[in-house]
Amino acid sequence: MTEQRESPHVVVLGGGLAGVACAHRLGDEGVRVTLVDRNDYHQFQPLLYQVATSQLPAEDIARPHRAIFREHPTVRIHTADVAEIDVENLALTLSDGERITGSHLVIAAGARPEYFGVPGAAEHAFALYSVADAERLRRHLQSTIRSTDPDEGALDVVVVGGGPTGVEIAGALTELMTALVATERLSKPGKITVVDRGDALLGAFSDKSHDYAHERLTRQGADPRLGTGVAAVHADRVEFDDGSTIATQTVIWGGGESAASVVGSATGLTTGRGGRIDVQPDLTVDGHPQVYAIGDVANIPAKDGTILPQLGSVAQQSGTWAADNILREVHGDKAKPFHYKDKGIMAMIGRNAAVAEVGRHRHQMEGPLAFAAWLGVHAMLLSGAHSKTDAFMSWAWDYFDRDHAATVEWSTAPQRIAWGDDSADVPHIIVDRGDSTTSAGSN
Ligand SMILES: Cc1cc2nc3c(=O)[nH]c(=O)nc-3n(C[C@H](O)[C@H](O)[C@H](O)COP(=O)(O)OP(=O)(O)OC[C@H]3O[C@@H](n4cnc5c(N)ncnc54)[C@H](O)[C@@H]3O)c2cc1C
Repeated sequence: MTEQRESPHVVVLGGGLAGVACAHRLGDEGVRVTLVDRNDYHQFQPLLYQVATSQLPAEDIARPHRAIFREHPTVRIHTADVAEIDVENLALTLSDGERITGSHLVIAAGARPEYFGVPGAAEHAFALYSVADAERLRRHLQSTIRSTDPDEGALDVVVVGGGPTGVEIAGALTELMTALVATERLSKPGKITVVDRGDALLGAFSDKSHDYAHERLTRQGADPRLGTGVAAVHADRVEFDDGSTIATQTVIWGGGESAASVVGSATGLTTGRGGRIDVQPDLTVDGHPQVYAIGDVANIPAKDGTILPQLGSVAQQSGTWAADNILREVHGDKAKPFHYKDKGIMAMIGRNAAVAEVGRHRHQMEGPLAFAAWLGVHAMLLSGAHSKTDAFMSWAWDYFDRDHAATVEWSTAPQRIAWGDDSADVPHIIVDRGDSTTSAGSN
């Protein structure tokens, strides 16, 4: 690289896996960064279902941005809601009207649930995109269990979507029900139904994995209902497109996602599938070489012309790559097309049950081997926010290995990730319950 020409100031919207990876890399090189996120913490989405089913406290999967960037003095954290993206002027407008302008803009605002216009879904279904969402669902399940008679089916849950999110939350819910029955908190478990329009669970996986997921979930007590679409969601029931209904107070939406809503505030951006920002192979936005879009908010082209999936490893790697391209440009070099190192696809169905497909030929694995693959990839994803990945590894092996009925506790999780006792590491999680706003854990 040649000598640096000018001092850049990179404004990053979003402190998820993509934004944190980008800011980290730039901070390592002493570049001035302003990272803007509505939350003062980073959240690790792959473990949200653990929070929703009382197996981990919300604090264990969230870490304050300030703690993450403690060793990076050039990275400034700004906690605020972004109202508008101004691509032309490389600026963000915050909800209080303040503007932040940089030499480069990195959009890493992530995704939100896509309800595909299903009536009542946005109002009545529980999404699982943030620790606040997971905490809201946990409290709802808790109060349902405490206040209702399971014999009347009050604990029955419908999970919409049979992809990894739907399968993982369904698996965790069956474990929760089993544990509550084993500890005599419930007389019988609630019924967990997983609905999908397709003809298999984990549709993007191989037939072998479809069968494995189906068999394991069924054995754990869930009821996969395939080839069925959701027509409407009500407060007390779900209607299906075949005219049938299931009475339930709990619908969990894992049925699709689209770009974060703030993308709609920007002009001059081309959006495609899922309302995501279409980017060039080097991750810049067409016509704006100083604007990058990375992670779940972007349609990132793969070498074969397809679009890369919305995965943690794509988000993290695209974040680091965008930072490297900014560094290249600042040093007078050409940006390079993003090269994704495929880590495979995987899902945890429960204790002792995981499935993974890795490598160029998508080698299929099940059980402990698949779990080991899952663990390796997730430890790497977590390493962006935590240096103590060994604490995560030891918690995860313990979770995977144990006899489940004994371990699920009801209000506070028994087996925490031993991140350490630094009080600066405690995130400030706000849960809007609809009626009031409280801090997580203050139940
Ligand atoms: C339930 C669930 C389970 C998953 N499991 C896995 C898994 O096992 N393995 C895997 O590889 N991937 C998994 N994923 C996908 C993975 O988590 C995502 O691909 C990844 O987190 C995307 O990172 P990101 O940085 O693009 O977005 P995010 O992590 O969503 O970060 C976006 C950030 O932008 C902020 N933001 C958005 N809009 C605004 C605004 N207007 N103002 C201020 N801030 C804003 C948000 O607060 C957030 O912090 C899962 C996803 C979910 C939802």
